[in-house]
Amino acid sequence: MDRVEVRTRFAPSPTGFLHIGGLRTALFEFLWAKKNNGKFILRIEDTDQARNVPGALENIVQTLTDFKLNPDEGFYWDGVVLEKGDRGPYLQSKRLGLYKKYAEDLVNRGNAYYCFCSQERLTALRSEQTAKKIPPKYDKLCLKLTKEEIQNKIKNNEPKVIRLNVPPNQQIRFTDLVHGQIEISTNDLDDQVLLKSDGFPTYHLAVVVDDYLMGVNYVIRGEEWIPSTPKHILIYSSFGWELPKFAHLPLLLSKSRKKLSKREGDVAVKDFLEQGYLPEALLNFVALLGWNPKTEQEKFTLDELIEEFSFEKLNKSGAVFDLEKLDWLNGVYIRELKIEELHLRLLPYLTETFTEFKKYPKEFLFKIIALEQGRLKKLSEIGERVRYFFSEPEFNPELLRWKKMNNEEIKQSLSDAKKIISNFEFQISKQEIEKKFLDELTGKDKGSMLWPLRIALTGLKASPGPFEIMEAFGVLPNGREIILSRIKKALSRFR
Ligand code: GLU
Repeated sequence: MDRVEVRTRFAPSPTGFLHIGGLRTALFEFLWAKKNNGKFILRIEDTDQARNVPGALENIVQTLTDFKLNPDEGFYWDGVVLEKGDRGPYLQSKRLGLYKKYAEDLVNRGNAYYCFCSQERLTALRSEQTAKKIPPKYDKLCLKLTKEEIQNKIKNNEPKVIRLNVPPNQQIRFTDLVHGQIEISTNDLDDQVLLKSDGFPTYHLAVVVDDYLMGVNYVIRGEEWIPSTPKHILIYSSFGWELPKFAHLPLLLSKSRKKLSKREGDVAVKDFLEQGYLPEALLNFVALLGWNPKTEQEKFTLDELIEEFSFEKLNKSGAVFDLEKLDWLNGVYIRELKIEELHLRLLPYLTETFTEFKKYPKEFLFKIIALEQGRLKKLSEIGERVRYFFSEPEFNPELLRWKKMNNEEIKQSLSDAKKIISNFEFQISKQEIEKKFLDELTGKDKGSMLWPLRIALTGLKASPGPFEIMEAFGVLPNGREIILSRIKKALSRFR
């Protein structure tokens, strides 16, 4: 017998830009499909028209491409949003006819029914139930209508919805690939609206119809969908369709184990990318949210993730979003980039800070980038870190003071440095520069010599050392002049 092709889908609603949780869901769907040589589908669930956000669809599709999570079917990005696959359309608002047909089919099977109740009645019912402290549920009033009554109401164009006819006193059981056995009583389920009065389906109908028609056999999604799954199972069973396997991913939590806040990372993926997290680092980080490789390994390429991924390694309990860990991991990835590549990735941030920087020789840019490569956590930090290479630093002269140095000592130290620098050939390595200094420094305290010099050059409390900085400036034809003029300027502040 042929093995059934694994088909997964990511089914976001275009109600906002792609968030970390969505990226994680998409990643796990992608990994499982690829691991099994199956297909990964990107379907857009836009049935709640009032909540659709302009630009969200484009953002979701493009962001997945940024992470190389390219769908085999559905929407993909090639400068614009395009669609492929033979089970489309992959946009739910283009499939309304289908949902209507299946909803009516459910009515004919007795598993759904027309409901004509007004909003007022439903609101009153709800308040009554809340007052009695019973969970609000539709009371199946319209199920009592006769065929003729229903026909008449339809003929009179009375507003109507189609509701799922949830049978009482049944246990719905399913095996979740993450959480194991889950059992929910139908007494806890409401007669869910499946088709709204405007002809649009609700999520519950559309998701089942589409997963079925698109041959989806693994439904991987956030844990918040567990309570909806029994409703979906009822619809599958009404049609006699085979159930897909379900995997509900653990919630994402903040460090304080609460719902993720904006400050703690409930932010669009695009914002993370703009701050200068590398897609490969962010994806690696996201993969570890709730998925435990069960080894010490923390760095994974996409191919390694495909290789290693399995549902057994998913945690049941919430996954803590640890921004410090993301920073650390991003730093690891930054340090592994070749300098040319890092230069390319930093270009947008450098351009932002110094429009003029393209006039500088590449060799110079490579040198200053190499100086910071070991310390960068995010690409966006580069501007502030290397600003002093492009413009004279402004700083409080007090910063020039090393420990208890007095003004005379600071002046002496800077003048000594000036003299040393004027006396050697410039384009030399930092080791050679260091040697020139150390030769002159015998007997003197290193800090009192080098601190004022470094501050004069950078204006920063923390920066690379003065020899490395001078080596980099040495690449510029006027490197020595820049250095000397900064020392003079620092000196002038003690006059
Ligand atoms: N459209 C739903 C969402 O926005 C999809 C949930 C599911 O995967 O079934 O999350």
